[in-house]
Amino acid sequence: MRLLLIEDDPMIGAGVQQALRQDGYAVDWVRDGMAAELAIRDNPYELLLLDLGLPRMGGIELLERLRTAGNTLPVLVMTARDAVSDRIRGLDAGADDYLVKPFDLDELGARVRALLRRQRGQASPLITLGALTVDPASHEVKLAGEVVRLSAREFALLGALLEQPGKPLSRAQLEERIYGWNEEVESNAVEVHIHALRRKLGADWIRNLRGVGYYIHVPGQA
Ligand code: CA
Repeated sequence: MRLLLIEDDPMIGAGVQQALRQDGYAVDWVRDGMAAELAIRDNPYELLLLDLGLPRMGGIELLERLRTAGNTLPVLVMTARDAVSDRIRGLDAGADDYLVKPFDLDELGARVRALLRRQRGQASPLITLGALTVDPASHEVKLAGEVVRLSAREFALLGALLEQPGKPLSRAQLEERIYGWNEEVESNAVEVHIHALRRKLGADWIRNLRGVGYYIHVPGQA
C-alpha cells in the first residue's frame, strides 16, 4: 500500500517515513504543496499525510484543490499548530482526521489503519476472504486458523491483491503499490514475491490472467 507524506520539516518527515515503512507501507515523501499535487496526479496512493504549513502552496489550499477536483483520497492532517481554528479549517477543507505535533508514531500508525479501513468500507479491523484472515495492525496472516509467515513485501503484495479481490493487477501496478520512489526494484521482484505467496498460501489463491495480471481468488469458488 502506497502513501504520500507531505512535510517540509526534515526531522519529522524522516521519522514518519521510517515508522510507516516499518509498518510495511511504501511511503513517498515530498516537501511542498506543488510537488505533492504532481505526485498525486501520477501515483496510485491510498492515503495522504499532510502538513499544513508548507512552502509553494500550503496544506489547506492543496486540500481544497484536491476536493474541488473530486479527489476522495483519505487525508490525515499533521499540524504543529495547536490552535483549534486550524484543525477546524483542515477538517472543513476535507481532511478526514488530524494529529497535533508532536505525536506518537504508534498512534499515527493506528490512525492510518483506521482511515484505510474506513476507505474500504470495512467495519472489522481484520480483512477476511474465504479461509484467509489478515490483521493490518499486527501483520498476522492466518489461513484456516494457521499462522502464515510472510516477508514485509509479500505482506504488502497480498494487501494490494486484497484491495479488490478478483480484479487483476498488472506487474507494473503491483510494483507501484509496494515500492516507493528510490527503492531498488529487481526486474522480476513481483514474480518472486508472487511465487513465495503461492508457495505459502497454496497455488490456487493467486491466479494469473494472461497478459493482464494477477488476482486473488478463493480456492474452490467459481
Ligand atoms: Ca511545516
